[in-house]
Amino acid sequence: MDVDTIWMDGEFVDWEDAQIHVLTHAMHYGTGIFEGARCYETEDGPAIFRWPEHLDRLYNSAKPYEMEIDHTREELTEATMELIRRQDLTSCYIRPLAFYGYESLGVSPGDCPTRTAIAVWPWGTYLGEDALENGIDVMVSSWRKHASSQIPTNAKTTGLYVNSMLAGEEARRNGYAEAIVLNKEGNVAEGPGENIFLVRDGELYTPGLAESILDGITRDTVITLARELGYTVHDGATISRGELHTADELFFTGSAAEVTPIKRVDNVEIGDGSRGPITEEIQTRFFDVVERRTDDHEEWFTYP
Ligand code: PMP
Repeated sequence: MDVDTIWMDGEFVDWEDAQIHVLTHAMHYGTGIFEGARCYETEDGPAIFRWPEHLDRLYNSAKPYEMEIDHTREELTEATMELIRRQDLTSCYIRPLAFYGYESLGVSPGDCPTRTAIAVWPWGTYLGEDALENGIDVMVSSWRKHASSQIPTNAKTTGLYVNSMLAGEEARRNGYAEAIVLNKEGNVAEGPGENIFLVRDGELYTPGLAESILDGITRDTVITLARELGYTVHDGATISRGELHTADELFFTGSAAEVTPIKRVDNVEIGDGSRGPITEEIQTRFFDVVERRTDDHEEWFTYP
């Protein structure tokens, strides 16, 4: 990874010094919470997309675990800006992380300190350039999502991503680019690191929080942009597995995945098996906004 400085517990440290002890609580029990945001290259310099919303989600993710992040929003913002400036990055991915460190080892975090770190690094398209234009092949995973009654699925918790890893790797082992994960009820939830949208008869459908999904910031962005374009968006739709195959169009959204068309599910072609027209329109609008080819939604940007 092309990074030489990491911010850790209030200080800028060299890459090789950003270390933790092997008895760190989060290593054993998955008790970390994190974020993933993007900073885009624009004519006005690097611009972080929807940073306050990512911070909101970070602090909210800490709540169910009674984790106190010892740093203010302003400190985390300044640290992130400084990392981008110091490393002269024009665009990057931003990874804030907070976790229970080491004090004593037991499931109860007891007096374990909360450690906090931020790393930024250049990162291209998550599922490949070709994916954005031509779409990806996905499979419905044999793994189900945790139910939101078992673990807060709206908190971006490190431990939850064991499920994402299993689903994603199962898909790749079978020759697919990514997975779709069903919830405990067997309805469509999301991808391992993406939310999902379905297009049918010119309208958009996306599962809601009660379907055990993460409340994606790109999801919210796409809902906003699609409505502005005049589309009806059914936020909170229950989507059965079979509806995936008969959809006119399907696409994933995420800070990493951006807006990625899905061309086949379990080898069944979606629409005509290429990026659909509504997906393309929304994707174009999304990139026009995030790369600042329009003045709209200036409120979504923070400039380091
Ligand atoms: N669902 C999961 C499980 C994720 O990990 C992500 C990525 N953070 C998303 C959805 C998309 O969320 P966002 O658009 O905020 O990146």
